[in-house]
Amino acid sequence: MTTQPKFILVINCGSSSLKFALIDPASKQQPLTGIAQCLNSDEANIVIKHNGEKHQDTLDAPFGHKEALANLINYLTQAQLIDVIAAIGHRVVHAGECYQLPTLIDNKVMAILEELCTLAPLHNPANIIGIEAARVAFEALPQVAVFDTAFHQTMPEKAYTYALPRNLYSEHGVRKYGFHGTSHYYVSRQAADYLNKNIDDTSVITAHLGNGCSITAIENGESRDTSMGFTPLAGVAMGTRCGDIDPGIIFHLLKNLNYSTEAVDKLLNKESGLLGISEISNDCRTLEEQALEQNNPQAKLALDVFCFSIAKAIAAMTTSLSKLDAVIFTGGIGENSSYVREEVIKQLSLLQLSLDDAANEKTIRGQAGNIASDNSPAVLVIPTDEEWVIASQTLALIKG
Ligand code: AMP
Repeated sequence: MTTQPKFILVINCGSSSLKFALIDPASKQQPLTGIAQCLNSDEANIVIKHNGEKHQDTLDAPFGHKEALANLINYLTQAQLIDVIAAIGHRVVHAGECYQLPTLIDNKVMAILEELCTLAPLHNPANIIGIEAARVAFEALPQVAVFDTAFHQTMPEKAYTYALPRNLYSEHGVRKYGFHGTSHYYVSRQAADYLNKNIDDTSVITAHLGNGCSITAIENGESRDTSMGFTPLAGVAMGTRCGDIDPGIIFHLLKNLNYSTEAVDKLLNKESGLLGISEISNDCRTLEEQALEQNNPQAKLALDVFCFSIAKAIAAMTTSLSKLDAVIFTGGIGENSSYVREEVIKQLSLLQLSLDDAANEKTIRGQAGNIASDNSPAVLVIPTDEEWVIASQTLALIKG
């Protein structure tokens, strides 16, 4: 391996996990990837995949983000990979209205990120821990924040404004922000290339369907509306998140069913969605097996609610577009579940959408392609690559 510093180390810190990848943005080569999971618990562990070989360590508590980074740096040092790193790119969930573009991290940016924690208490604090640890560990390297919300800053006022008293927005920032921005950005650009069109003249709806799910209307390369909102809890049903519900249910839980605010938070974020309805699993594969092979009615209902909510969100997104060049599926479910894609598109026949069954069946496991029938607008499956977007935007910023 060359010692020219051409790789970007991408760091994605969740509340109890730290994902990382060493990426060459030019070639998309990723010689090293990995994840530290169950951080700050007895099961804390780290897995590093380097040139196809897997290295696993179970680690004694207390083992948090800092220790995970120290373990990674130790590995990078021994493997003589420190000198190939040109910069660190951090995924940061919430930028509020502060940043529309990737941003070089300094003390001023850190102070703003701290302030933004009130908007994203579940996500930004973990991102900050990762950045702080990386700033100490890689003192000499530039560190760049790439924000999930940034791509959606082009939404018009009518799309991001809630029908709430105006001062909640003007004084407290309560508005729709949207998430999964790097994924929606990436697959919309890939789609334009696939369709042989200029992104400035392309209207698409992107469906990022993973553990978290969001649908976005993208016209001429810009986000015009998206299904997630002030937090990533809004929009379509998800693995364990409820998506849109009547807010009156929350008062009912608090006032009449004696839930605490913490219990409501846990219920809506961790115990709802596919898991809550099925009472079996949040994993789409398990539910498909249960519904289709074991005829389990609860698994079937969970998938029905899930697919119906996605179809409705896609239909709703057409209100922000002047034409429809393609619907794009991405994320673990969007890239792999021909069942979910079929059930969603079946409910959108009024938009003239229909699938080629054979193409739908075979476009899985990292394959990209058009799965629409001949007389339908394109329905594309495009594997997302959020880490590569973070790496290439980080490199562009430090070079520019
Ligand atoms: P992500 O958050 O993008 O990693 O996606 C995770 C989701 O993708 C989980 O719900 C998985 O069940 C789902 N998934 C992965 N592979 C498949 C598959 N072959 N069929 C259906 N769902 C899948």
